[in-house]
Amino acid sequence: MKLSTISATLAELGTKPTQSLGQNFLHDQNIARWIVEQAGITPGKPWVEIGPGLGALTEFATEISPRGILLEKDDRFAPWLRKHFPSTEIVHGDALDFDPRDLFWRGPLPVFGNLPYYVSSQLLFQFTAEPSPASRMVFTLQRELAERLCAKPDTGEYGALTVLIGRRWNARILKHLPPQIFTPVPKVGSSVVLLTPRDDDLLPECDGALFRKLVKRGFSQRRKQLQKMLELERWPEFSTKLGVPSTARAEDLSLAHWVTLTNLASGAPNDHSAGAQDVNGEMFDVVDEHNRVIDQKPRGVVHREKLLHRAIHIFVFNKRGELFLQRRSRWKDAHPRRWDSSAAGHVNAGDDYDTTAPRELTEELGVSAPLELAGELAACRNTGWEFVKIYRAQHEGPFRLPPSEIECGAFFFPEQIRRWMDERPEDFANGFIECWRTLNAAGRLAPQT
Ligand code: SAM
Repeated sequence: MKLSTISATLAELGTKPTQSLGQNFLHDQNIARWIVEQAGITPGKPWVEIGPGLGALTEFATEISPRGILLEKDDRFAPWLRKHFPSTEIVHGDALDFDPRDLFWRGPLPVFGNLPYYVSSQLLFQFTAEPSPASRMVFTLQRELAERLCAKPDTGEYGALTVLIGRRWNARILKHLPPQIFTPVPKVGSSVVLLTPRDDDLLPECDGALFRKLVKRGFSQRRKQLQKMLELERWPEFSTKLGVPSTARAEDLSLAHWVTLTNLASGAPNDHSAGAQDVNGEMFDVVDEHNRVIDQKPRGVVHREKLLHRAIHIFVFNKRGELFLQRRSRWKDAHPRRWDSSAAGHVNAGDDYDTTAPRELTEELGVSAPLELAGELAACRNTGWEFVKIYRAQHEGPFRLPPSEIECGAFFFPEQIRRWMDERPEDFANGFIECWRTLNAAGRLAPQT
């Protein structure tokens, strides 16, 4: 958008840039086009823009794909955008109130924007938080924030933001932008940052909740030594294993150190792939078509020969009526990376459903809670030849998820899951879909009274 067009549009709307909304409009067309190119929009596919303003980026993005979702707070711009970009969906309101979980049904999509600087770090956390619906992100940020995001250990810029976001995202400064290409001219420099999902093999998995807790605590007073900040009794032993002095501060630990420290603190190995595959020796009861025990066989044989067996699924709701879903780890032999019930597991040989359910709840989520039987499923191809009992529980989290089994988890409203499952059933494990349908038909997905 040219400078003259920006001035004319503001005059037409009878308004001036609002400083408190971080309004600095980009008037360099080449840079605008280039930023949109970095976002990697696919023709015909959806994308999200945060803070479109008067459409400096939007006009180039809609040329590639008309299916934009625009999050704009300004009361005068939202109707204007609706008129000028009719193919897009305008979400008029504070982008911080936008629920990224509403995007999962569309599949992973690019998110970009010249962000309003007064809320850019909150917006960064909101859209990078795990699980994120974004396939990649391109943001123009205040240069100082961009440098913190991409910082190296042992520098003044390196901090909790670098490490928390870095665990799942590669952040790279693509370009520094001079203030003069914006109107009004901002007092600070800007940088365009690209965020792409981190390559799985470059960093071990760990318990995400514990990782966040340790990193936040460690950096909360960055001049203090970690032995004081972290309150880990075994810190002397852990620091030796990490190869850092016991007097180390938060900024001395690399991202890989923080992940390893999390695994040391939770007692988990750093290589989770081995643990995940060490299950083939487990013994299951084999049952007949009436769910009567007729034999016992190792897990590998039961699955390979499609023998009928037993399993439990647990649906954990919170007080808001949201259901906790887990994303299965990439090492799972069945349905890796698919979304699944809050907890689920096989009934081992000699066990029954009612003793298996609380055990699985503790093993997979690290909690215990009263369980209520909510439904049953007969064995079929979609249940993986399992006779399933479905339990409900209520818990607010947080949960301790074993990284070898579960990549991440999150609460979702049943409406969000319903739409997501309708549009993208391939994102879910088959057994979960069957359990969901059963509870849905029985009206058991609503909050418990
Ligand atoms: N994209 C336009 C451009 O490059 O010219 C405008 C960028 S301007 C830096 C930031 C935009 O974010 C403004 O349109 C402003 O109204 C909008 N904005 C500010 N705070 C917002 C918030 N909390 N939620 C959504 N939009 C916001």
